[in-house]
Amino acid sequence: TSWHIRVVYNLLFLVVILGRIWPSQNAGDVTLLTSFGSFFFIAAATAVILNVLGAYRVQLVRENILATTDALTGALNRRPAITELERLTDTQTPFAVILLDLDYFKSFNDRFGHFAGDAALFDLVRMSEAVVGKAGLVSRWGGEEFLVVLGGYSEAQGVDLAEVLRTRLEGEVQSGGDPITASFGVAAWTDDEPYSVTLTRADKALYRAKHKGRNRVVAASSKVEEPRAVDAA
Ligand code: GH3
Ligand code: MG
Ligand code: MG
Repeated sequence: TSWHIRVVYNLLFLVVILGRIWPSQNAGDVTLLTSFGSFFFIAAATAVILNVLGAYRVQLVRENILATTDALTGALNRRPAITELERLTDTQTPFAVILLDLDYFKSFNDRFGHFAGDAALFDLVRMSEAVVGKAGLVSRWGGEEFLVVLGGYSEAQGVDLAEVLRTRLEGEVQSGGDPITASFGVAAWTDDEPYSVTLTRADKALYRAKHKGRNRVVAASSKVEEPRAVDAA
């Protein structure tokens, strides 16, 4: 709303300036005053236009921040993550993704309350953003699920970074003495595939990490362990 006020203010200002110039132009004989008035008018009008455009630009930036930020954690939301995935695939830039999901978070909420859960999500984002830094982006993909996009990263590099996140989380974000842990699925983009395929492989790896007992990192390319009884060959 503040930029609306500025528009109104500037329009009022314009009316005042016009009111001051009008009589001097009608006078005809006061040429010095008229040309000074015109100069003053053009300068004022330019200032007004720049002022309004500036306020509009600030408004656009503000709206863009709101549209790309998660309100609870301050992390990026899904939108900028998808934009980045599109950019990476469009420019054929290799990348890795880490999909992480907090372990037994429902029971954490049940034991310590929803506000403690919210605080844990907030802390997780601060820690992850500090660890990932300029290497990529951290986005809140879903409720207690986060996606890290790492431009130029191989799967092995992604696994290393996920391992740092896992260890830091286990050690740092604590409530009621119990560590909060997460499971991680890591996949790298390959062979011109759409990014949705890369995400699906990360999701399957995450599922395997959960299945294997949680609080671990699983790479999409890692060997899927088959049940022993099937091993007949
Ligand atoms: P799993 O190890 O299998 O992932 O177990 P889980 O309990 O984490 O998984 P489940 O999907 O059953 O539950 C997710 C929980 O995350 C339930 C939901 O209340 C919680 N959650 C999601 N978003 C938020 C949030 O913004 N704040 C809080 N406090 N909790 C959230
Ligand atoms: Mg979970
Ligand atoms: Mg989940």
